[in-house]
Amino acid sequence: MNLILLGPPGAGKGTQAERLVEAFGLVQLSTGDMLRAEVKSGSELGQTAQKIMDAGELVPDDLIISMISNQIDQHSDAKGVILDGFPRTTAQAEALDEMLSDKDLTMDFVIQLEVSEDTIVERISGRYSCAKCGAGYHDTFSQPAVEGTCDKCGSTEFSRRSDDNPEAVRSRLGAYRDQTAPILPFYTDKGVLQSVDGMGGMEEVFDQIKEIVAGG
Ligand code: AMP
Repeated sequence: MNLILLGPPGAGKGTQAERLVEAFGLVQLSTGDMLRAEVKSGSELGQTAQKIMDAGELVPDDLIISMISNQIDQHSDAKGVILDGFPRTTAQAEALDEMLSDKDLTMDFVIQLEVSEDTIVERISGRYSCAKCGAGYHDTFSQPAVEGTCDKCGSTEFSRRSDDNPEAVRSRLGAYRDQTAPILPFYTDKGVLQSVDGMGGMEEVFDQIKEIVAGG
């Protein structure tokens, strides 16, 4: 089972992908996480990507497309993949289609998480993660059980994304509106797009996603 999670920054794609990994044994392929790993490693790609990401703009399609194609190949034995943060442009959606047919794979579900812009800003401005294992937290909605200690790995170091500041968030929302939202009709025309209300708590949203996946 392969699926795409679509939605603006802060819609909860990463959180829901983590839940889907636990529940269905799928592999999460997040282009944002891959790029952040490249930035951390100081690779050439990371150096190119960092400035673009900090400005809240999109990294060039050709770099992203080859990165995701490699990752899909590396996980060819997996039960399926969740694409999180990809595709983000029409060119990426078309390249993905071609890539899947070349690899004899199908995309079973394209799930759009719908959230208001006010909610996005609220969610993004409070989020942080464990610096060691990447587990996600939020100042208001999801603090660790023991203050200052990661629930999953016990680390006491946390970090915030450098592009989670008001200026970059405005630009990321603009990129979503102008470059990513236009791919929704591409998937509507194929008859695979399903939308869920992403405004509720993470359990409620996950229940809706599970219903779609079970119904397919
Ligand atoms: P994300 O973690 O998905 O919010 O992505 C963080 C940043 O990485 C984005 O604002 C873009 O700069 C870059 N990025 C992630 N995925 C893509 C993609 N599919 N296409 C272009 N840029 C991307």
